[in-house]
Amino acid sequence: MTRFAPIVVGQRLDAVRTRLEGAGLDAVLVGSLTNIRYLTGFTGSAGIAVVTKSGGVLCVDGRYGQQARDQLDGARCDLEIHVAKTSAEMSQYVSRVVSAHSRVAFDAHEFTLAQFESLGGGSEKLQRVDGFIGSVREVKDASEIERIRFAATCADEALRIVPELIGQRVAVTERDVRDELEYVMRKAGADGPSYDTIVASGENAALPHHRPGSRTIRDGDTLVIDVGALVEGYHSDMTRTFLIGECSPVLEKMYSTVRDVQQQAVEMVRPGARCGDIDSWCRDEFERLGVADLVAHSTGHGVGLLIHESPWLRAGVEDQLKPGQVVTVEPGLYRVGVGGVRIEDLLVVTQTGHTVLTHSPKESPCLQSPPTT
Ligand code: ZN
Ligand code: ZN
Repeated sequence: MTRFAPIVVGQRLDAVRTRLEGAGLDAVLVGSLTNIRYLTGFTGSAGIAVVTKSGGVLCVDGRYGQQARDQLDGARCDLEIHVAKTSAEMSQYVSRVVSAHSRVAFDAHEFTLAQFESLGGGSEKLQRVDGFIGSVREVKDASEIERIRFAATCADEALRIVPELIGQRVAVTERDVRDELEYVMRKAGADGPSYDTIVASGENAALPHHRPGSRTIRDGDTLVIDVGALVEGYHSDMTRTFLIGECSPVLEKMYSTVRDVQQQAVEMVRPGARCGDIDSWCRDEFERLGVADLVAHSTGHGVGLLIHESPWLRAGVEDQLKPGQVVTVEPGLYRVGVGGVRIEDLLVVTQTGHTVLTHSPKESPCLQSPPTT
């Protein structure tokens, strides 16, 4: 028995079919396992689906026949199941389904060129429409938000151990912190980390995606921890930065700058806000404060079945936020050879504004320095 409301896919398929109708298309070919999971509940490692205006089929191989039947049943998915004996037979079957329709959408990011050709790539029936399912996936239903919210809670719980860990009487490395965080998240009920946990200290904190190593965390460091949990396929994402012991005024100033900019950017998240505007506001603010050269990445991204998905809070994106979307706000500053600061929250857009799903404090980043021996 699961602790969450079951995932049911009827409304998702309805949304896809409404889009097909609106675009004058007969069907959409689905090759991404993430999109297949979203539309059917199937979690196997291979398969292709075709969703039509009135039905459709999920094609899997012999390893997954029973699993597909159980999972589609559990998600109340109305697609038929075809079990192919070989991958060549799967392609032949799907290309026959495609040829029975006249206008079939596909997303070029979901297929290799070889797959595309084996599915009848040259055919005029196939029409490239990128993001067809991805844009439906942007708006989360209650069962998805429930899982993401719980994942964020697991990461909050893990982060709570950091002050004690740093303050203990033995030297602590980046890897030690990562291992403890991941252990606590699993104990809290997560299936695992939602991505490789980032623990970056000192000069390593200047690298936005540093992989934790054997460096000992010490006095004067900034310590950037980017941590998320995975719960039934759904991700969370959060970053906090700590100041260890006596930090230089330069690092303290970087912290307060990022905290202020991040907090104001969070306040901009509401329905109708343009994604690119939130990013450009952060960049303009950093420019005004004279630290634009320390910016290394865009402001945020959507989170769901993938850790990084649309909508993108980056330059030039005209899309407006909608209720039900789950996005991060994560500005950062990185001074090469010195350190870095990033603060990241995960938010769900509501009818009137937003709800923050990550609750770890940001106001008291200073931790006592660890022992020097
Ligand atoms: Zn992150
Ligand atoms: Zn992120």
